[in-house]
Amino acid sequence: LESVRTAVSLQHDKAYIDGKWVSAKSGNTFKVLNPSTGQVLGSVPDMDRSDVQQAIDVAYRTFQTWKNTTAKERSIVLKKWFDLCLQHKKELATLLTLEMGKPVSEAEGEIVYGSGFLEWFAEEAKRTYGDVIPQPTSNKRMLVLKQPVGVAGLITPWNFPNAMITRKVGAAVAAGCTVVLRPAEDTPLSALALCELAEKAGLPPGVFNVVTSNRDNAGPIGKELCENSLVSKISFTGSTAVGKILLSQCASTVKRVSLELGGNAPFIVFDSADVDLAVSGLMSCKFRCSGQTCICANRVLVQAGIYDRFVEALAKVIKSQLKVGDGLSAATTQGPLINERAVEKVDGLVKDAVSKGASVVCGGSRDSLGANFYQPTLLSGVTSSMRIAQEEIFGPVASVIKFQTEEEALAVANSVTSGLAGYFYTSDIAQAWRVSEKLEYGLVGVNEGAISTVESTFGGWKESGIGREGGKYGINEYLEMKYVCYGGI
Ligand code: ADP
Repeated sequence: LESVRTAVSLQHDKAYIDGKWVSAKSGNTFKVLNPSTGQVLGSVPDMDRSDVQQAIDVAYRTFQTWKNTTAKERSIVLKKWFDLCLQHKKELATLLTLEMGKPVSEAEGEIVYGSGFLEWFAEEAKRTYGDVIPQPTSNKRMLVLKQPVGVAGLITPWNFPNAMITRKVGAAVAAGCTVVLRPAEDTPLSALALCELAEKAGLPPGVFNVVTSNRDNAGPIGKELCENSLVSKISFTGSTAVGKILLSQCASTVKRVSLELGGNAPFIVFDSADVDLAVSGLMSCKFRCSGQTCICANRVLVQAGIYDRFVEALAKVIKSQLKVGDGLSAATTQGPLINERAVEKVDGLVKDAVSKGASVVCGGSRDSLGANFYQPTLLSGVTSSMRIAQEEIFGPVASVIKFQTEEEALAVANSVTSGLAGYFYTSDIAQAWRVSEKLEYGLVGVNEGAISTVESTFGGWKESGIGREGGKYGINEYLEMKYVCYGGI
């Protein structure tokens, strides 16, 4: 209760533009709900196209001065912001759990991970080196400079209400860009809490602007961000369907785009795998965030020789380790899904698989705890033609497919249009190399199910996205290169 009270001290009911807490011009607001209980946590402005235009104007004006700050100055502010986020870890995590539902221990993990991007990019800000190029003729000197791209329009999802923001904003601000962010309608409170801490850290007004809106206004706001010529860059994390809309909208102004879209991760367990290691890797990869991450295992491919042993071991661990409940309760490992629409989708995929011959080893239906809860589920005998293997589940369902050979596993794994994360378990070193190279995925875990980290790059192949976030490449998404040639020397 104490943590809930202090979390509320970081809760805001206004959007944040030009360093001011503001209402929508229309005066409209929308409610933010706790997905666990359905209770109303508060309300925030339901902004529209005219509000985002104003935020863009502010960000553009501010960019004219912010771009002239030194990397060191920006680094100092980002580092302070990082420190403040960690100091407020408990409050930020509680607020995140209240609006998103994930267990508070996971929410604390997200705050540490998310804040880590602010620290990482505070360091990277100082290392955006250019090049000096050996001249082909003696009267010239040539170099490449890196400069901030301009105003960045950012659109983020609800599953990581903190980290998906810091991963973008940290890089953008470090590069010298200013930002207009539209956080997901389900989770605007975590975004607004970050504004308060940014201001305390000394980030000047107009650098980080947050425009909140309900789902109805997401389209018009996104369109404005894509089509407004004062915005130079769009970075989006969310579904592939929305990513495609944004990409086409960006064509008219040839905007730079970074997209982190949906996945359909294969998790391959070969006969030679250490079964206990594979089971524990799958538990963290599949059931974190109740299965609602874009790198969660979506298709568990298990080789025939260990199939029965693996399914039995997995069922045992699911039953003994997972506890469905309210995210604020310390014992909970599985919070609610984000909303009823999500539960309906998961339930539909399970029913479809069962109707086509999959068998329910455990779980398999909604949980009696409430409208947004779904039981941790294990489906065996899934085939790759079932909808559950074709679509992103985004819920706590492990669907297991049997395979015979490595070639077959790779063919199934690579048969989809997404290519975000892939995982496999083996004790055969040659197979480890071979399969790592053949998987058509942007991130690969070998005998490891938890692979995201600020130090490395994150991004997808195929329809899973464009560009990379985090790591040493992440800041490049917010920088332009300029070739400068000096003549007459
Ligand atoms: P999810 O199904 O996980 O919510 P979405 O891609 O639908 O994934 O949503 C990700 C983010 O994109 C959310 O903040 C959502 O409000 C926003 N969004 C949805 N539709 C559009 C759109 N047409 N233009 C811009 N943003 C959108």
